[in-house]
Amino acid sequence: MDVEAAKERLVAEVDARAEALIEASHRIHEKPELMFEERFAADLLCGLLEDAGLDVERGAYGLDTAFAARAGSEGATVAVLCEYDALPGIGHGCGHNIIATAGLGAGLAAAALADEVGGRVVVLGTPAEEGGGGKVYMGEAGAFEDVDAALMVHPADQDLLAMNVIAIATWEVEYFGEAAHAAAFPHMGRNALDAAVLGYNAVAALRQHIKGNERVHGIFSKAGDKPNIVPDHTVAEWYVRSGTLATLQPLKERVLACLRAGADAAGCRMEHRATCPEYSDLRTNVPIADLYLANSERVGRMPLRRPENGVVGSTDMGNVSYLVPSIHPMIRVAPPGVSIHTKEFAGHARSPAGDQAVVDGAKAIAMTVADLWLRPDVLDAARQAFEQDQAIRAATGAGP
Ligand SMILES: [Zn+2]
Ligand SMILES: [Zn+2]
Repeated sequence: MDVEAAKERLVAEVDARAEALIEASHRIHEKPELMFEERFAADLLCGLLEDAGLDVERGAYGLDTAFAARAGSEGATVAVLCEYDALPGIGHGCGHNIIATAGLGAGLAAAALADEVGGRVVVLGTPAEEGGGGKVYMGEAGAFEDVDAALMVHPADQDLLAMNVIAIATWEVEYFGEAAHAAAFPHMGRNALDAAVLGYNAVAALRQHIKGNERVHGIFSKAGDKPNIVPDHTVAEWYVRSGTLATLQPLKERVLACLRAGADAAGCRMEHRATCPEYSDLRTNVPIADLYLANSERVGRMPLRRPENGVVGSTDMGNVSYLVPSIHPMIRVAPPGVSIHTKEFAGHARSPAGDQAVVDGAKAIAMTVADLWLRPDVLDAARQAFEQDQAIRAATGAGP
């Protein structure tokens, strides 16, 4: 089968399943589940993949809500990644129901052709993108060892070929002081809230002197119990982000120095621990992204190469891009300027535009799988670009 004929078949396979894909998107949207608790979504997706005859492994790679569904017995192996976790308070404000079902549609369509064409596809269910690092654990357990390329598509307020992804470290920071009556015996107290506030303010001063693409942001999740008790225990959560894993390391040290300075000033003790594996920057594989661009145009979308508004974020897909040639394009479901991680965006993730993104995203990803299966030159080009990136990482010290 030539690649054009394969793409026509894949588009028809997605169209034939459009209603079921949209229904699955709505069902996942209606039942938002937090990281590592996505049992309903994983079960729904696994059931649909099993019904279509794929070989499904539930609880894959050591994570209860991960899965791997395989089809095809020879040729290049392309992974299609599905995220399906939601956010506290705002449900599917990141639109992972669309990632899940665009990936499902691409995987089902590709599986229908795999044996005929001589390619392999693995649909990977990847839990806990929102602060759990599911893909990092799956990578450590070998999920990408036999994979030639990894593809996914994320919803946004515009069609984009790549997201501007920076590296991130996430911490829980605890301060320990001495409780005392705040009016009767204040001199006996050591105020853990003062420690947290002074640390926060020291970070605020640091922000003038960091790079334009670096971000530091925190909240207090425990700040005391009652005004007349000097707080002896407070908890803050901090995110520290920088362009690459390499540049993240010195920034982490500077932020920690600020947070410790608060503890020192208030006579308290500080402890910190990582709440999630560090996410790396994302190296978009340009040859594969170019294929996705051409395939998106076939479904009537014109992705921009870079975001016009400079939006940055972090994702565990970055870590996958350090393991295998990867893409993480964005597909428009909302009007320009509507930010992900809002209730407003959650509304768009279950709208006619969101439904269209499920179908279009499934087609564009499926057609990119066909390119990788049937045009050996592009897989070679993707590998070469990946190796060049690896050499640059080695030379600059960036790397997980
Ligand atoms: Zn998100
Ligand atoms: Zn997301």
